[in-house]
Amino acid sequence: MNDLEPADPVVTNPRRRVVIIGAGFGGLACAGALGDTDVDVIVIDRRNHNLFQPLLYQVATAALSPADIAEPIRRTLGRYRNVHIMLAEAGGIDVETKQVKLKDGGTVFYDQLVIATGSDYNYFGHDEWQHFAPGLKTLHEARRIRHRLLLSFEKAERTKDPAERKALLTSIVVGGGPTGVEMAGAISELGRSMAHRDFRSIPASDLRVILVEAGPRILAAFPEHLQAYAVRHLEKMGVEVRLGAQVSDITAEGAVIAGHMVPAGSVVWGAGVKASPAFRWLGIEGKASGRIPVDAKLRVEGFKDIFSLGDTSFQPDKNGAPLPALAQVAKQQGRYLGKLLAKPGAIETAKPFHFANRGNTAVIGRNAAIFDFGRWTLKGYFAWILWAIVHVYLLVNFEKRMLVTVQWIWRYLTRQRGARLIDENDKEDVAPAIIR
Ligand SMILES: Cc1cc2nc3c(=O)[nH]c(=O)nc-3n(C[C@H](O)[C@H](O)[C@H](O)COP(=O)(O)OP(=O)(O)OC[C@H]3O[C@@H](n4cnc5c(N)ncnc54)[C@H](O)[C@@H]3O)c2cc1C
Repeated sequence: MNDLEPADPVVTNPRRRVVIIGAGFGGLACAGALGDTDVDVIVIDRRNHNLFQPLLYQVATAALSPADIAEPIRRTLGRYRNVHIMLAEAGGIDVETKQVKLKDGGTVFYDQLVIATGSDYNYFGHDEWQHFAPGLKTLHEARRIRHRLLLSFEKAERTKDPAERKALLTSIVVGGGPTGVEMAGAISELGRSMAHRDFRSIPASDLRVILVEAGPRILAAFPEHLQAYAVRHLEKMGVEVRLGAQVSDITAEGAVIAGHMVPAGSVVWGAGVKASPAFRWLGIEGKASGRIPVDAKLRVEGFKDIFSLGDTSFQPDKNGAPLPALAQVAKQQGRYLGKLLAKPGAIETAKPFHFANRGNTAVIGRNAAIFDFGRWTLKGYFAWILWAIVHVYLLVNFEKRMLVTVQWIWRYLTRQRGARLIDENDKEDVAPAIIR
């Protein structure tokens, strides 16, 4: 089966065709820059929505609902008549015949191909941990974490066994990067607000959130004084920060930290990232956990018509290290490449891609965030306000910005979290064995 039969409007029009695999930050920016140009664009994504991953932790901790941070791709790109959207999962590329092979058996021809398939969590050879310790990459995972947290509280409210209650009220977050820090802070805030107001048999002293980092510091990409501030603030919020501690096993009962089993109601994974497996489709060696090496114009080394950007690509900075896996990198690369691909031959004469760093940030909790702008840094309340403004601004459209702003203001004033829903059907999926 060919997905683009002659009757297809794309095929009857013999214009140059750019196929983009992945409509995340990078793919969407690329498609947007190609919108309303003389090129036919086909965007393939296995999800029908674009996800604002930086706020996924708020869905996982019941501060926002899934729809607040996800937008149908058709809604974002539908206004461009030259852009066609395909809900399908790519599973390979035939570089000889210039076709993307879809997992459902279909194929899509391209003249130029952009691979923007992002990254996945890396369980370092222990994929079985994924079941007990979801990462934070998709709405499904965020909902699993939310259910598990909320169910643990419900069970803790009912149990008469103090040891079981303590275990249920323990949350372990593995990995001290921005996601781990954000999750640990948010779980602590969620737990304390619920214990204080909504539950009758949960003493706040039984709540325990452990942030485990195998390295010597959390937030490794930030300057040391911001790392130290983050540790201090997390500890003030009741989070135990365990540095230099390895997690060697994760089960339904909890995690083994530095050789000791710590029973826990929920474990969240935020420890490692690997690129999507797209490098295998090209039969090349991936660099730094599977990223596709690209040149200064985002062209995959050795392939004239194939480009890659965002988390799944490896573009070296001036020191040879890969550009960071950040939304701002993917978006800038997407816009850059889209503009180049819009004009025939522009690639050859174009200036190389230059990443303009707009600053690196992480939020720690209510009233506390950090910003690193390279030459100067910011921490505390004003960093938190700036963090909120930036994240609202980066949301995909005005409606989402309004929705999130209103909810954040309401939550700030009332300390209430509105999205604390446990779906009956999800119980089986998420309840760890400890929840009997
Ligand atoms: C929890 C979390 C918090 C983050 N916080 C921040 C932050 O605060 N600031 C920041 O700058 N960055 C942050 N990031 C990183 C940022 O989200 C990524 O750098 C960014 O999403 C990369 O964009 P991308 O386009 O490369 O990939 P993605 O945005 O991940 O998009 C990849 C797309 O490809 C699709 N796809 C994958 N494989 C296939 C396939 N085989 N077939 C079809 N479609 C496919 C996916 O469905 C997805 O839509 C965060 C990431 C996470 C997970």
